[in-house]
Amino acid sequence: MRTNIIRPFLMAFLILGLFTNWGFFGHETIHEKAVYSLPKEMWPLYKEHIAILIEKSTNPDKRRHFSKKEPPKHYIDLDAFRVNPKTVFPANWDSAKSFLTEDTLWAYGVLPWNIEWVYYDLVEAFDSNDAQAILRLSADLGHYISDACVPLHTTVNYNGQLTNQRGIHGFWESRLPELFAEEYFLYPGQAEYIHNRQEYIWAIIFESFSAKDSVLDLDKKVQEAFADEGTQSISERKGQGVRTQSIEASRAYHEALNGMVERRMRRSIKAVADFWFTAWVDAGQPNLKNLELEKDGETKFFGEKVLEKLWGN
Ligand SMILES: [Zn+2]
Repeated sequence: MRTNIIRPFLMAFLILGLFTNWGFFGHETIHEKAVYSLPKEMWPLYKEHIAILIEKSTNPDKRRHFSKKEPPKHYIDLDAFRVNPKTVFPANWDSAKSFLTEDTLWAYGVLPWNIEWVYYDLVEAFDSNDAQAILRLSADLGHYISDACVPLHTTVNYNGQLTNQRGIHGFWESRLPELFAEEYFLYPGQAEYIHNRQEYIWAIIFESFSAKDSVLDLDKKVQEAFADEGTQSISERKGQGVRTQSIEASRAYHEALNGMVERRMRRSIKAVADFWFTAWVDAGQPNLKNLELEKDGETKFFGEKVLEKLWGN
């Protein structure tokens, strides 16, 4: 009885979760393509279990509904402080903490530091030859890195809510790739070792940050050009408006962005592959050939298990 009451709510939550961060389609595509940039020595685990990596690429978004600490791991509001972010944000967590206090950092997002935390967990999983943990943490790490590549994950105005452009978040990162990814060239070349991870991830974040004005300004222009169209609608999902509009208006915006979505997606794929590869190298390049996955749901996180119980799977 209780299950029947709870089920619709959980279903709603899950559906809402679909519309945050690159969307399910984007995250799955990025993880899938990243596997093919890895060296052959990593294929026995990564290619063999590519379906698990793809499936778990959106776990961090699902976890948003189960932990208060989860959402700030997906973004950093660089413009919250009204100063040049390059001079304000120490790359290292300890210096950042003493500079801005831990509460402030969590309030405006901890994305770059969280990538480093998950990275260390992944190296540890390689060290202990734990196949389940390697796949689960690789999927998590890839998700956060991909979020860092999205311009609107670096600004307070993350959904255009401050500039009357509500719905732009999901429109840019979910709707556009769904419509146009088939036209993209998404092979970024072989994975490379990252010598300075903090520098690498902050470079990505600053690229995203400097692209966010174009994301918003060009949207404004296209919205004005298509003002008479009347096809735009905003649906409410998780307090965020998600915009749908005509294919013509979508294409006009996509063209105005001049390949930005494709470039950021390819950048995500490269960065995810580079981080997976670097973690493996830093763990001493363990042999992945004979690692076995246990058959039960060990790779599942708490929320997945709860949902499965409720659904009776
Ligand atoms: Zn996310």
